[in-house]
Amino acid sequence: MKQMEEKILREGVVLPGDILKVGSFLNQNIDTQLLAEMGQEIAHLYEGCGTTKILTIEASGIAIAAAAGIAMGVPVLFAKKHKSSNVDGSVYSTIVHSFTHNEDYNVVVSKDYLSADDHVLLVDDFLANGKALRGLIDLCDQAGATLVGVAIAIEKCFTGAGDQLRAEGVRLESLAAIESMSDDAIVFRS
Ligand code: 5GP
Repeated sequence: MKQMEEKILREGVVLPGDILKVGSFLNQNIDTQLLAEMGQEIAHLYEGCGTTKILTIEASGIAIAAAAGIAMGVPVLFAKKHKSSNVDGSVYSTIVHSFTHNEDYNVVVSKDYLSADDHVLLVDDFLANGKALRGLIDLCDQAGATLVGVAIAIEKCFTGAGDQLRAEGVRLESLAAIESMSDDAIVFRS
């Protein structure tokens, strides 16, 4: 998606540890025009795929998922990060290792909101090592839901995690795919 790539080149900041800061338009201050276009693009990519629900993870995936949900006319469910896991059996729960905080946390969704009838599109802001996505896939598996595919705003291709998921048969689309990044250059996959 050209607008995303241009925005990343203009405003993205590469931090130590292979972190791309996009707080000026996506992770803190949200460019709502771009967000709406991202939602439209995701809807376009997955048109006719029978999606009944979008699943994301709090917090930074929610805005993008909501934009896609509005464009597709489907509800958006977000998995919550919790201290405890499945204390009373009312939630599906999995453990995810956080790329940005370097710690494990429980991720849960209520069994009330995800079921075997659902055809789920996963949406998130970044794909780095794929841990968040694999956690969401695990939650879908526990519910017996069908995975339609994945839409990621910014894929860091150099980790190999996205291509690994594709090799496993997961449809994965990213709006901007970064092949390499450093202080002075960000190169997109062509
Ligand atoms: P993964 O689980 O794929 O290793 O990491 C994905 C999660 O870590 C995303 O939900 C995102 O919040 C965060 N993340 C990973 N890489 C970056 C990055 O370069 N910049 C920012 N802002 N967040 C990232």
